[in-house]
Amino acid sequence: MDFFLNTCSYCNKRILSSDHVFCIECHGLLPRTYFNFSKSNIVLDKLRTFIPLGAAGSFLFYNENQMVQQILWEIKYNGNTHLAKEIGRLAIAGNEESFKREVDLIIPIPLHKTKLQLRGYNQTAFFAEGMSEILEMPSAIDILKRSKQTASQTKLNRENRFQNLDQAFMIENKEKIQGKHVLLVDDVVTTGATLISAGHCLLDSGCASLSAYTLASSFEL
Ligand SMILES: [Zn+2]
Repeated sequence: MDFFLNTCSYCNKRILSSDHVFCIECHGLLPRTYFNFSKSNIVLDKLRTFIPLGAAGSFLFYNENQMVQQILWEIKYNGNTHLAKEIGRLAIAGNEESFKREVDLIIPIPLHKTKLQLRGYNQTAFFAEGMSEILEMPSAIDILKRSKQTASQTKLNRENRFQNLDQAFMIENKEKIQGKHVLLVDDVVTTGATLISAGHCLLDSGCASLSAYTLASSFEL
């Protein structure tokens, strides 16, 4: 049996239910944004300056929150794909209808194939898969692709982030997005450069409309 099915993914305390990844205390400490997927919030307002979006949101605040930083480290560098997927399920719970009203198809931000081989998995794809299970709609990983290996965005300023991502994405199986409202999903939104670049690529290739959702938001409030 998987060890993390009955210990809290944050404090390691034993939990009785195998349905949860956090104990009750840690679950209550998650810094939820409470603008899960709405038509007016800081994520949407900032992104909309650069790209037309139907709705947008983030599940958690990233800013200097140790818990969120640890969750992201676990799912990104420690192979905890189970946690990534469960966080995706948690992010949607109670908000199913607002997503279902807008979205036809979920697309996670991909890794470049070289990076995918190195890491072995794309944490964002697992997060999207958890969302897809709750929403009962497909999460597609065969459409949006990285066309080039880009430098890490972490140390770049805003302008350089956009330059770094110029022509970074391409679309395969174009027919699958024709007329669809796509929900673009990422782990963290910082400047929005990744979502904006990938989003324009999808809109240019025939998707009808677009929304965006991330596990965490590091936008300054
Ligand atoms: Zn705990």
